[in-house]
Amino acid sequence: MYLKSIEVQGFKSFANKIVFEFHNGITGIVGPNGSGKSNVADAVRWVLGEQSAKQLRGASMQDVIFSGTENRKPLGFACVAITLDNSDHKLAIDFEEVTVARRVYRSGESEYLMNGTSCRLKDVHELFYDTGIGKEGYSIIGQGQIDKILSGKPEERRELFDEAAGIVKFKRRKMVAQKKLEDEKQNLLRVTDILSELE
Ligand code: ATP
Repeated sequence: MYLKSIEVQGFKSFANKIVFEFHNGITGIVGPNGSGKSNVADAVRWVLGEQSAKQLRGASMQDVIFSGTENRKPLGFACVAITLDNSDHKLAIDFEEVTVARRVYRSGESEYLMNGTSCRLKDVHELFYDTGIGKEGYSIIGQGQIDKILSGKPEERRELFDEAAGIVKFKRRKMVAQKKLEDEKQNLLRVTDILSELE
């Protein structure tokens, strides 16, 4: 599995539609200060479901939408799509190629798409659990992140190892099952109360 391309439109400094294509080997993005290199990494974080504006170096989620320049009006939406080669089927989806897209409008409306079909943020998260790619994954190492990992709490560091070991999805499923079990216990308690009132 590898990243084949990133398509951005209206995202931060990229007003026009731009497609970055990646081939085998290492790709470097170079450019003068402030030319938008980090915005490319932000675009990947964002499409993977980043919900924190701070992580994207903004104050609000609408800050990812192109805000205009002296010569150009602001845009009304931002869209990012990443395409991954899945010929090794590392992603549990029956496609050789997977495109995940996210779109947001100034009105606040937003949507996620997987291979062109509308989906939930949860679906995007589930697709990338245990692959290292998800928004909490270790495939994007931002500035200062190594320091954060080294000086972070043991539980936070553990999350990184869980992801690498491929057990995150099982932990999530366990949490959901435990929550359901707890809800059922409460329901049972309530039924027992009603029954004893009736007797
Ligand atoms: P450096 O080398 O200094 O780290 P960089 O190449 O990584 O810089 P970025 O931080 O990716 O640059 O891009 C910063 C630029 O993006 C700034 O010029 C900023 O004005 C522009 N920018 C950020 N958000 C928006 C937005 N919503 N609309 C328009 N431009 C934006």
